[in-house]
Amino acid sequence: MTKPIHIVGGGLAGSEAAWQAAQAGVRVILHEMRPVRGTDAHKTDGLAELVCSNSFRSDDWEHNAVGLLHAEMRRCGSVIMACADANQAPAGGALAVDRDGFSAAVTERLEAHPDIEIVREEVAGLPPADWDSVIVATGPLTSPALSQAILELTGEEALSFFDAIAPIIHTESIDMSRAWKQSRYDKAGPSGDAAAYINCAMDKAQYEAFIQALLDGPKAEFKEWENVPYFEGCLPIEVMAERGRETLRWGPLKPVGLTNPHEPERRPYAVVQLRQDNALGTLFNMVGFQTKLKHGAQVEVFRTIPGLENAEFARLGGLHRNTFINSPRLLDRQLRLKADPRLRFAGQVTGVEGYVESAAVGLLTGRFAAAERLGRPLQAPPGTTALGALVEHITGGHLDTGSRSFQPMNINYGLLPPMEAPKTDEAGGKIPLKERGRAKKRLMSLRALADIDAWLGGEKLAAE
Ligand SMILES: Cc1cc2nc3c(=O)[nH]c(=O)nc-3n(C[C@H](O)[C@H](O)[C@H](O)COP(=O)(O)OP(=O)(O)OC[C@H]3O[C@@H](n4cnc5c(N)ncnc54)[C@H](O)[C@@H]3O)c2cc1C
Repeated sequence: MTKPIHIVGGGLAGSEAAWQAAQAGVRVILHEMRPVRGTDAHKTDGLAELVCSNSFRSDDWEHNAVGLLHAEMRRCGSVIMACADANQAPAGGALAVDRDGFSAAVTERLEAHPDIEIVREEVAGLPPADWDSVIVATGPLTSPALSQAILELTGEEALSFFDAIAPIIHTESIDMSRAWKQSRYDKAGPSGDAAAYINCAMDKAQYEAFIQALLDGPKAEFKEWENVPYFEGCLPIEVMAERGRETLRWGPLKPVGLTNPHEPERRPYAVVQLRQDNALGTLFNMVGFQTKLKHGAQVEVFRTIPGLENAEFARLGGLHRNTFINSPRLLDRQLRLKADPRLRFAGQVTGVEGYVESAAVGLLTGRFAAAERLGRPLQAPPGTTALGALVEHITGGHLDTGSRSFQPMNINYGLLPPMEAPKTDEAGGKIPLKERGRAKKRLMSLRALADIDAWLGGEKLAAE
């Protein structure tokens, strides 16, 4: 009998990791603290409880990155996807589930698996030394004792804080006939690039209207339990605007050291800057734009910025309590902690965002741990797949621009290597300009599914 893999946390990631490892023939002990100890958001003692919405978002694998992730996970025999599919609630093109039926189904399948033992206990510190393979999947509400132990082990300053999330925009949706690339004072960064930022200039009237819209826009309320202070260094943009109408012009929107090549004779009144967010250059984040504005209002207000009229958002801004590690620095490509490789991390705590993404990282981590236990090393899927792109994001694709620059992210096509938008369809017919973006997504999805099948084929061969 193989030595067990220990999995801490029976949420979306831990349940999927347990299933994948057990299906590979490895014994698993799953430690879930509920109902012995609760969290501020969970309400039941079921595994894979959905703490908020009941939606797994779009199920369109051809044109939506999370739909593609669903499809890849189904091909990998995901228990989370199987139980979601079996407990669907009507939601148009989205995959929504009956949350109780879904959680009960995951719990039943794991309880019935001969290679999975479920222990209801908190792991209140670093796992014991004789647990030689551990997956930590304790989520955004990791219990304080374990958070503290992880902090000490990794030497990081903080694990739990308000996620100050600024919006991220698909680069190709920025209108470069209005925006331009330049770093302040043309200063070259470590990469030697003196035109690292995308800049959007505002005149006085545009700035005034923008500030008013920030002040008037509807804001999301904090949950009472999210009682973690703001970091003064990353205040929400509307809080800065409340401190004075000029505050932003002296802060992230200051118009100095920049010349708009489209109107060189006119000095901008304020400048919004966007910084490259991923190594591929397909995503740019809005510098200093962490915000509590409601999502609909963000799209409306930020599209008033010259150059961003047609911006497509890969992620909208937000502020909520979260717990995640600085994965790009701390984890290797097998999602092992470099400082203590017997520990792997999975789920939201690695810096992915969302139910499906958390389960997806659980899926990979369970496979990695099982393959290692069985003496068959397993590489991550290629970055052209949604699964592989998530690993890229948390272990390397993100550009490290200083402490806490790494922020959680949903899956989106910007995390995958880009392809040319096709001009003609499979029958040789011309694709209208406005439909080429959709056609490109479909091509990227087809590439991803072919690559995930090849990866699964390679894994199967290694097992034979
Ligand atoms: C309030 C809130 C709302 C959210 N809403 C959404 C949403 O609507 N849609 C969406 O896609 N994502 C949402 N998320 C983000 C995220 O996708 C979910 O939190 C998701 O459940 C993360 O999966 P996970 O497996 O990483 O963590 P979880 O599903 O939270 O699982 C972690 C498990 O670990 C257990 N645990 C924690 N510490 C210990 C310990 N020391 N020992 C043993 N067990 C432990 C917990 O009890 C829990 O069961 C939300 C997050 C929060 C906090």
